[in-house]
Amino acid sequence: MPATMTSTVPFLDIRAQNDSIWGELTEALEPVMRGAQFILGPAVARFEESFAEFLGVKHCVGINSGTSALHMALQALDVGPGDEVITTPHTWISTTWAISYVGAKPVYADIDPATYTLDPALVERAITPRTKALLPVHLYGQACDLKALTEIADKHDLLLIEDAAQAHGARLDGRRVGSIGRAGCFSFYPGKNLGAFGEGGAVTTDDEDLAERIRRLRDHAQQGRHHHVELGYNTRMEGIQGAVLDVKLRHLDGWNCARAGHARRYGELLAGVPGIQLPACPRPEGHVWHLFVILVEAGEREAFREHLNEQGVASGIHYPTPVPLQPAYAQLGHKPGDFPVAEDVMARCVSLPMFPELTEEQVERVAAAVRDYFA
Ligand SMILES: *Cc1c(COP(=O)(O)O)cnc(C)c1O
Repeated sequence: MPATMTSTVPFLDIRAQNDSIWGELTEALEPVMRGAQFILGPAVARFEESFAEFLGVKHCVGINSGTSALHMALQALDVGPGDEVITTPHTWISTTWAISYVGAKPVYADIDPATYTLDPALVERAITPRTKALLPVHLYGQACDLKALTEIADKHDLLLIEDAAQAHGARLDGRRVGSIGRAGCFSFYPGKNLGAFGEGGAVTTDDEDLAERIRRLRDHAQQGRHHHVELGYNTRMEGIQGAVLDVKLRHLDGWNCARAGHARRYGELLAGVPGIQLPACPRPEGHVWHLFVILVEAGEREAFREHLNEQGVASGIHYPTPVPLQPAYAQLGHKPGDFPVAEDVMARCVSLPMFPELTEEQVERVAAAVRDYFA
């Protein structure tokens, strides 16, 4: 392999993370495999307990993906046809899928230009008599303005459900995100800050009845064996995922801390570079840096990424198109210009390599490649 290839800075390196805890992982996986406890079982129960404790909530229900976690939460809260759910146009599309799965209508409010999360003032303006819930996203690892959104939800008697799929461990006034709304929804997709060995997700809540209903829904709505009390689903977490996640959870705060260190270093090395906008982070404890996203000029993005690529630096775009402007949502009738802030950010965003195991030298190489383009 040529030297330039070996020194490529990857966007993400899951193998490096697994290598660092290999012994712990195999030790935790062995009993699941020997016991053939592949669906739910003691490993999932242990993880549910640990994750609930980590977040400071009473209940955690292990689910088979983040998408399903959102679906189960909305279903169990009786959000359905005739209801509107206000959410963000700037997210991974699963946030909106869940609203559609239960037959409700997604309604979009534009985002805040500094944090790229829902703008509470615009959320309030989007409320109608049909609004049933708010579904904000803690995007890129940064807690959204839940304080303002909670006030709005309380004032208008709306459910507040957090999409915390990108923000495991982020804090807001001392509380972890996912523990503040009526329900928190998490994804453990391998590339998330807390990642499984496959698909995984969870719903967290203090509401005992809600947790109970989601436990039922995920298991074909069985109450006791072969007694199905409503329309059910197969959205259970696998035993192997519970075992892996329980191990990785012990390291999460440390890993998030390493991410914050890389973000700080990127910030120092890229300060003052003309032509880019660095991510805003008004409250450091509120950001777990799932992604490090800079903005460049829209017309420049492709050439910039090509330059990074030539320098052996991987990059990504999260995300290129506002959800309401996707073909899948053409029936909503939105058009370019409806979400000016999100459209601008989504036309300009570039994600730089970000994962705990990045070395200082790699961070410096990424920053040098960025500076080099704008020099
Ligand atoms: C990853 C993600 C999801 C979906 O999670 P999956 O586990 O991939 O189904 C939902 N919302 C957001 C914001 C995400 O980033």
